[in-house]
Amino acid sequence: MSEDNSAQPLLRHDLHDKWPQAASVEDFQHNLAAVQARILKACQRVGRHPGEVRLLPISKTKPEAVLRQAYAADCRFFGENKPQEAYGKWQAMQDLTDLQWSVVGHLQTNKAKLVARFATEFQALDSLRVAEALERRLQLEGRSLDVFVQVNTSGEASKYGLAPAEVAAFLRELPAFSALRVRGLMTLAVFSAETEQVRKCFVLLRELRERLRQETPASIGLDELSMGMSGDFEVAIEEGATVVRVGQAIFGARATPDSYYWPTQQK
Ligand SMILES: *Cc1c(COP(=O)(O)O)cnc(C)c1O
Repeated sequence: MSEDNSAQPLLRHDLHDKWPQAASVEDFQHNLAAVQARILKACQRVGRHPGEVRLLPISKTKPEAVLRQAYAADCRFFGENKPQEAYGKWQAMQDLTDLQWSVVGHLQTNKAKLVARFATEFQALDSLRVAEALERRLQLEGRSLDVFVQVNTSGEASKYGLAPAEVAAFLRELPAFSALRVRGLMTLAVFSAETEQVRKCFVLLRELRERLRQETPASIGLDELSMGMSGDFEVAIEEGATVVRVGQAIFGARATPDSYYWPTQQK
């Protein structure tokens, strides 16, 4: 493309200079407004309504006091990568009765009981073992959970998620889990400064969703596409994201390296 007014993704190491720590309610108001303005512009570029895109603030590594500032700036939904960390924050913030939690990171079956207890949404479903563990725990809690199936669209061994070719068969198994409400698909794009490489991952998820819609059971919802993070959410919106998971552009850069969340070793 010659007239490139689409978003450029950032390299991970660029982010620390770019995103100072949010440390007050005003900082959060400012950052949230800035991200919302960018969401609006991305929507306008492709003729989408901004109401179609939910901003999910990702609060991992940030302490409770900072989350409370974000809450005071009107955040009512936080996404966390690690179940224990999320559970601890949920316990500490139960006074905020309208606050909801999304777990966006890979889950081990022994942590399913935590997620079943407090989460509204789980975005990284990638195995039947995890589905079974969640179902059992949710039944015990008398709760249900919105879930997204995570797809590995970059082909990198370090990324979690099902291979695209595995997703159709996986979805066919999910109606058996009555406590799981399937909402859609989730992915992480390749981390690259080349927009077109990043965009390919998002296109793959959208096209996969269109194909799956023809052949999945009616009880399986595929309306949602969770894709896009601080460095690439505008590209994701251009390609159809309905949920963008934005951490550092709202909260400030993280000290924890991303390798903590996306192991460089094969899982
Ligand atoms: C941390 C995280 C994000 C947000 O990343 P930022 O670079 O902080 O925007 C999105 N999705 C998942 C699964 C994450 O773990």
